[in-house]
Amino acid sequence: MKIGVLGAGQLGRMLALSAYPLGHQMRFLALSEEDPSSLLGKTFIHNNNSEMVRNFADSSDIVTYESENTDVTIVNEISKNTKVFPSDKSLYISQHRGREKALLEALKIPCAPYQMVNSLDDLKSAIKNIGIPSILKTATDGYDGKGQFLIKSENQIHEAWEKMDGADSILEGFINFKRELSLIAVRGIDGSLEYYPLVENSHHEGILRLTIAPAQNISASLQKKAEEYMSSILKEIKHVGVLTIELFESGDLLVNEIAPRVHNSGHWTIEGAQTSQFENHIRAITESPLGQTTITSKFIAMINIVGVHGPIQKVLKTKNAHLHLYNKEERTGRKLGHITLTSNSTDELNKTIRSLKEYLP
Ligand code: AMP
Repeated sequence: MKIGVLGAGQLGRMLALSAYPLGHQMRFLALSEEDPSSLLGKTFIHNNNSEMVRNFADSSDIVTYESENTDVTIVNEISKNTKVFPSDKSLYISQHRGREKALLEALKIPCAPYQMVNSLDDLKSAIKNIGIPSILKTATDGYDGKGQFLIKSENQIHEAWEKMDGADSILEGFINFKRELSLIAVRGIDGSLEYYPLVENSHHEGILRLTIAPAQNISASLQKKAEEYMSSILKEIKHVGVLTIELFESGDLLVNEIAPRVHNSGHWTIEGAQTSQFENHIRAITESPLGQTTITSKFIAMINIVGVHGPIQKVLKTKNAHLHLYNKEERTGRKLGHITLTSNSTDELNKTIRSLKEYLP
């Protein structure tokens, strides 16, 4: 099939790398010829040009997207003549934190206490209800911790509101979590479902730096609870493809965010699972049987390469390390690639992680 991806970043690139062995062809709607996916398929440069979008869609049998910040109006336009998976519903809900929270509430899935905020007065009243510390976040367009302000004292209320620059916002109670987890699953058009194991994520300045898969000390009941949350979300929005939920483990298990796509915390599945998240997304949207999600090594870690490429030759010399670079130029805070480490012992895995200390802040 000819698969079109809205966006041409590293996620599109890794989708393409898993789609080719299955016999598919790829095209991308990109912002520039330099985007990470551009060498991996026919690239249409967007430039707010509706004819270019039409040409891209006409050249694709199915269209998918790699970011929840994709313009819903473009998806609506494309879906008039071409199948788009996941649908515009998955996109519409997950690109707005308020709509995401409303869905969680409707499904009785626990999340942080929140209140929508559209003015300084709204913020003051939300602080009265939710308290301090709390986090003010823009309702849309936030990623990697951008568009967020941690309010630790009442003196910061004005400053926090100014940082939102008038955008629709949401105030969330600060959760003193034990750790951050995520769950990735895939749903086929026929409703079939596969789940990957829960993984543990460590962030620095809002950017994911390390994923441990599977997360250690997860009881069967915790995995089951996360899968129940996941299945009710997937079924409610009739999602097709991969979907990720980011979770806080505190006393309870709380859902922080929903991403209707392959996710950075699932990159380890390329070497660490029977079928990668990328291949399973491609299988789902092409109406093919889903692949097994069982892990193939006992312990797996994924380290992001952020800002600078660092000692690449050292990574290549490291036993059981797999390097993925995204063809991006170095820039502070930019995800340039990742390293997957596989091992049959936690001691050995931790030792290898420590040996790559240049990549971990
Ligand atoms: P987000 O963009 O919502 O994924 O937030 C980025 C990161 O900020 C998360 O991975 C958490 O580390 C932290 N964070 C977000 N929301 C909260 C919250 N309500 N309480 C505590 N930490 C949070």
